[in-house]
Amino acid sequence: GPLGEPSFVVHARVAPLGAAHVLLLVEDRTQARRVEEVRRDFVANVSHELKTPVGGLALLSEAVLDAHDDPEAVARFARRMQVESTRLTRLVKEIVDLSRLQAADTLTDPQLVDLVPVAREAVDAVRVTAEDKRIALVVVSDCGDHQVWGDHDLLVTAVRNLVGNAVAYSESGTRVTVRVAAGDDLVTVAVTDQGLGIPAAERERIFERFYRVDGARSRQTGGTGLGLAIVKHVSSNHGGDVAVWSEPGQGSTFTVRLPAAIGGRAPEPSASSET
Ligand code: ADP
Repeated sequence: GPLGEPSFVVHARVAPLGAAHVLLLVEDRTQARRVEEVRRDFVANVSHELKTPVGGLALLSEAVLDAHDDPEAVARFARRMQVESTRLTRLVKEIVDLSRLQAADTLTDPQLVDLVPVAREAVDAVRVTAEDKRIALVVVSDCGDHQVWGDHDLLVTAVRNLVGNAVAYSESGTRVTVRVAAGDDLVTVAVTDQGLGIPAAERERIFERFYRVDGARSRQTGGTGLGLAIVKHVSSNHGGDVAVWSEPGQGSTFTVRLPAAIGGRAPEPSASSET
């Protein structure tokens, strides 16, 4: 803008052909600066997010020491330490996953991956949690070709995050459906729940790192606030996208749309994205 630093730097160079040929190089510095800001914010957020479980563990270990003559209290605090350390482990794993995804915008070694088994694997990983909550989990697919070029493990992680959220933000007795569908040039995985839904004003922000609609509830469910940021990066690294439809009180549908692997052509590198 007019008050800040200029976004564009213009380099003027005289080309070796003579003074008549002046080469103008216009470089966009906005992008570089934004990447740096994003990186700084990430480090600040990570430190903040790690402080909560680490602080919790410190307090709980003090409580254990104080309660040494009350075995029931010791057991109670120890169980809470277990919960906190599980959360901490998950948080660290997701931070590492996300920083890897942010560092590489494209896939190094894309393979042909069928999204139906990917959906099944993702659902299997969440099944016990869903059964505990009495939430029905269903995978359905049409009869098309559901192959994409990509990284099997990353795709399972992305779909697992969506199914995990669908279960976490739904009441018991509801149903979560995963649909895998082959479109014209796309394969779509749609995860539909009958849960809380997401207010319209929040629908953009939920894909930001560490953003939670309701911090307290999300922490209760073991949420890190990184799940959807990971889904977004996996989708864009595969040349696709993620979208959400939601009706508060009725439920939500998240769709991951990826280019179909028709013709056996490897994907074009995706555009860079660093949020
Ligand atoms: P978290 O670890 O908190 O679930 P995510 O990045 O996966 O982090 O999701 C961000 C926020 O989006 C969540 O805290 C929750 O408020 C909201 N959200 C995500 N999925 C759903 C869903 N299926 N239904 C309702 N809210 C959701």
